[in-house]
Amino acid sequence: MKLYNTATKKLETFKPISNEVVKIYTCGPTVYSSPHIGNFASYIYWDLLIRTLIANGYKVNRVMNMTDVGHLTSDGDDGEDKLEKGARKENKTVWEVADFYINEFMDSFHALNLLEPEKICRATDYVKEDMAAVDAMIKNGFTYETADGIYFDTAKFADYAKFANLDLENLKAGARVEFSNEKRNPSDFAVWKFIQPGEKHAMRWDYLGRPGYPGWHLECSTIINAELGEPIDIHTGGIDHIPVHHTNEIAQTYAISGKALANYWLHCNFINIDGQRIAKSTGNIYTLADLAERGFSPLDYKLWVLQGHFQGDRNFTFEGLDAAKNRRLNWKNRIAMELQHPQKTDGKISEKLLEALNNNLNSAEAFAIIDNTTEISLDDWRNIDSLFGLKLIEETPDISDEYKALIKDREAARAAKDWQKSDDIRHELELKGITIKDTPDGSIWQYLK
Ligand code: AMP
Ligand code: ZN
Repeated sequence: MKLYNTATKKLETFKPISNEVVKIYTCGPTVYSSPHIGNFASYIYWDLLIRTLIANGYKVNRVMNMTDVGHLTSDGDDGEDKLEKGARKENKTVWEVADFYINEFMDSFHALNLLEPEKICRATDYVKEDMAAVDAMIKNGFTYETADGIYFDTAKFADYAKFANLDLENLKAGARVEFSNEKRNPSDFAVWKFIQPGEKHAMRWDYLGRPGYPGWHLECSTIINAELGEPIDIHTGGIDHIPVHHTNEIAQTYAISGKALANYWLHCNFINIDGQRIAKSTGNIYTLADLAERGFSPLDYKLWVLQGHFQGDRNFTFEGLDAAKNRRLNWKNRIAMELQHPQKTDGKISEKLLEALNNNLNSAEAFAIIDNTTEISLDDWRNIDSLFGLKLIEETPDISDEYKALIKDREAARAAKDWQKSDDIRHELELKGITIKDTPDGSIWQYLK
């Protein structure tokens, strides 16, 4: 299995640390609002990664976090905590906001038929571990204190710029000095934030003699240490995480344990909508609920995402989504055909599909193989479902005996040239979502949607 590794900037053959289980970590959502379809693209790509590992015979132990504290609106060390802002906007407590959006996120996760990680961890359940981690970083000499919190001194980690090829000199030149001029280097970041007297921050913990809360990047280092043990095999996230969030996770873990965090790093590219970045200001923030309102199932969107590559430039349009929906319907109707006229095949397609996926998760090529192979047995379709989680079989049940009897009645009516009755039965079936095709081999039913 070959994967593109951001850490080495190369396509590499995957070699797990242990042959028993592959340890994987996925940076999860910040739970303060409904994710847009771009956010879900990342989890769809990682679902394909997990399913491909399983198809290769690996056991997987994956952990994903839920960020419910410390992620500031700037993505850096200034601005408001996103959870606090969400709570103010919705007139709820931060805990209510987190609970609501965690539930909503998991509902969407299931609607997309994404395999659940073995463990899902809330950042706020690991604050004790965060404090121990900060203790270790202080003790190992990687931090300094400002009025604002405990900062990581990135100059102390010689490899800081390596992961993301950062140009630290340039960063220095462009640094905004007005913010926290106590910062020694522009790339330094808070591992712990102090809550100032009078500052509103409902989530607070006493540490170092005053109230505060963990910095956003810390939870991932801490949760990986507590639940998986570093180094792990694979760490995943969006490309936005490379220069800051993941670079900082790597630095923290090195400062805490002296170890590398992960052997393989996979990053997905952002999807655009109608050629534009997804942004509030553009007004193109679509959620899965928005797609449902327009008649698209979450699995139509999942198929659209899997038609492309996790590193590719992706441009979402509703025409494209419509084409993906039709492709899924077409595949379901090929299954319907199999139910009526099973074919014998030699099962070769499964090998070819796995070969495509083992080449850096090339699902687009796998889909082309499906389209170009005329003989696909039900067993093959079952395998396709376990590789992509598109619920093709589940959503293509055999029709009832009652409908089958109606089709027989219609065939009899046609034989008797009773066109009116034949049309009436066709119409009746169409109301049930089934269409009839008349072929030389007799009438064949298909699903309308
Ligand atoms: P967040 O909840 O903001 O931390 O985002 C959750 C995940 O979605 C992160 O891994 C981001 O990198 C990813 N993400 C955000 N925007 C997009 C996008 N337009 N396309 C693909 N992934 C995205
Ligand atoms: Zn993370």
